[in-house]
Amino acid sequence: MLKVASSHRMELPREVIIGDGTLPEIGELYSRLGLAGPALVVTGHKTYDVAGREVGSYISEQGVEVRYVKADKPTIGEVRRVEAIAREMGVKAIIGVGGGSKIDMAKLAASHLGIPMISVPTTASHDGISSPFASIKGLNRPYSVRAEAPTAVLVDMDVIVDSPPRLVASGCGDVVAKFTAVRDWRLAHERNGEYYGQYAASLALMSARLVVRNAERIGNGSREGLRVLMEALISCGVSMSIAGSSRPCSGSEHLFSHALDVIRPGGALHGEQCGVGTIMMAKLHGLRWRKIRSVLATIGAPTDAEGIAATPEQIIRALLMAPEVRPGRYTILNEVRLDEVAAARLAMSTGVIK
Ligand SMILES: [Zn+2]
Repeated sequence: MLKVASSHRMELPREVIIGDGTLPEIGELYSRLGLAGPALVVTGHKTYDVAGREVGSYISEQGVEVRYVKADKPTIGEVRRVEAIAREMGVKAIIGVGGGSKIDMAKLAASHLGIPMISVPTTASHDGISSPFASIKGLNRPYSVRAEAPTAVLVDMDVIVDSPPRLVASGCGDVVAKFTAVRDWRLAHERNGEYYGQYAASLALMSARLVVRNAERIGNGSREGLRVLMEALISCGVSMSIAGSSRPCSGSEHLFSHALDVIRPGGALHGEQCGVGTIMMAKLHGLRWRKIRSVLATIGAPTDAEGIAATPEQIIRALLMAPEVRPGRYTILNEVRLDEVAAARLAMSTGVIK
């Protein structure tokens, strides 16, 4: 029997600022949000120099006390450390400045403390920039946990254009993944009556289509192309807020990536693994997987096991483990039920393993 979700909460960023040279606007933004009081900037050792220090200085120009935390790996222990500093200072907001993990830590800490969070990405590497979810290690699950959507997102394209091409390619993999994620979501709706939001699904798909259409420009590292990618990543985050879950953005291809992280942690970037997963899951869904593979290649994203530093055995193990990684997330892998032979055949037929 099909059922519609009785209710869910859509929490969206109040303000998104994107453009060239926008960093100095953070000071005014902080005041405009009514945040009269100290701020904590969570950043990384490298991203402190890239943008973190500057972000803090623009906020302190407003007469606000600013403190910095240079965070390490995104573990729950680091999140607790950020929370303790924030509590001690009585901060009014946490600003996450970095690639992905610093934003995730800032997001989860702010959510635990019930205070606003401002997201200032320094790369276009994944869709957590604006989403209400955070990827944190040490919580006994390889997938993201619920936090709150950032209150505001500020993107300075001058910073993004200088980020490494590999991170850009990873961001594209995370967006292209929406082709299979949305299919999996629809399947879960048809089979299990799970809530399916057409608006959220369309928004995620539109982002994926725009990245496909702009693959060459993104691959060339052009400012226009990167802006399309950045807006696509932000829209994907918003689609999760609208859906009230990560469903429009995370399906079987993400389960494959999460499984690979369990099998051999830290081997490749999240979006790189999701991109390779999308090629295989697209084939299972009867989608145009060759097209997806060629788009990823055009962008410079990996399309095979070697590209994501995995052995053929690890790819096969990840395919077999994927349906068990996140109980309750129904995907094409629950229908196809790959055994070792079928998993190897799928990986070989799509060129993921030779
Ligand atoms: Zn993702």
